[in-house]
Amino acid sequence: MTSHDEPGATTRTLMGSCLCGCVAYEARGPWRDVVNCYCEQCRKSSGNFVSATAVFESRLKLLRGDGLAWYGNDLAKRGFCRECGSSLFWVPLPSDGLIRIMAGCLQPDNGLRVAAHIFVNERSDFHELASSAAQYTDGSHPVTLPEKEQRLSR
Ligand SMILES: [Zn+2]
Ligand SMILES: [Zn+2]
Repeated sequence: MTSHDEPGATTRTLMGSCLCGCVAYEARGPWRDVVNCYCEQCRKSSGNFVSATAVFESRLKLLRGDGLAWYGNDLAKRGFCRECGSSLFWVPLPSDGLIRIMAGCLQPDNGLRVAAHIFVNERSDFHELASSAAQYTDGSHPVTLPEKEQRLSR
């Protein structure tokens, strides 16, 4: 196994922000590999699909939260910037201790990689899946954080 094939799980501290900058954050890894979701909720809320990584919620530090607003339903809540509309966070309800972070809002040199495509059958027909990562027709995927870290943090 080359290092490229190993799970990403970078432990770096990464910064991210919305488009206008009135929501900014940093978080310490481990970072989960990126999952691309094409379900109807992600498709409509993003304009096509969502690319999300994840960290333990306790490791996310909001540096600026002025514009942060939450939109929720029974299944999940989505954090976005009420000033510029950027989609920033996603948390399942009830929370599992991880906050999903929209990976495109992170600094671009982040070392993350796409590990799975989920709800691929709900994607728009114009969207071709370009990457060779695993594909799933529902939300079940094996992409997770390193087990050791999960044990330490619980
Ligand atoms: Zn903003
Ligand atoms: Zn989705």
